[in-house]
Amino acid sequence: MSSFRQFSGSKLIVASHNAGKVREIRDLLADFGVEPISAGELGLPEPVEDGDTFIANAEIKALAAAKASGLVSLSDDSGFAVDALNGDPGIYSARWAGPSKDFSIAMGKIKEKLKASGGANLSSSFICALSLAWPDGHVESFEGRVYGTFTWPPRGEKGFGYDPVFTPNERETTFAEMDPAEKHAISHRANAFRQLIDACFQK
Ligand code: IMP
Repeated sequence: MSSFRQFSGSKLIVASHNAGKVREIRDLLADFGVEPISAGELGLPEPVEDGDTFIANAEIKALAAAKASGLVSLSDDSGFAVDALNGDPGIYSARWAGPSKDFSIAMGKIKEKLKASGGANLSSSFICALSLAWPDGHVESFEGRVYGTFTWPPRGEKGFGYDPVFTPNERETTFAEMDPAEKHAISHRANAFRQLIDACFQK
């Protein structure tokens, strides 16, 4: 008997206003007969993400959407962490792109800061926290990670956010050069998803 609360039903709110994430979550849920509806489509408000970990922020978003909609809600809080920058931009990954959400600015900022630090250590990772929240306030959370190297100059047109500057370990191409299926096979989001599905969707 699983100690995790099980998801039952066919409707799930995806508590995100980020089109790139919603698209990937839709792909990852496709095999489970679940119809994701985005918080953006429903016009749900975006809560203030003032947690100091990925999981804390994911829980804030999932709980806010579950309480506002009365439906089980899934959120994703994720980001890019550069070892030589002590894990920055980390939970501030979206904010580094500024109000215009221009990720060429955010990627350039990492490049500049790495240069200032000597630039020898390019190890970096993507992290994804997923939270599944119920309207009664119950929440289950999982974290996935993928390790690789900061890559400059940026390469590739697919994906979103920091994908053009990340080459996963044992690969030659950046996330932005990969087809979605190739990224989904190894990504931080897919890793967290597998944990979520095993725990809450299959018993
Ligand atoms: P959040 O909406 O606060 O979780 O912001 C996360 C930010 O991290 C996004 O806006 C992206 O810039 C970045 N990020 C998260 N996951 C990915 C990914 O799979 N590829 C590229 N960037 C990502």
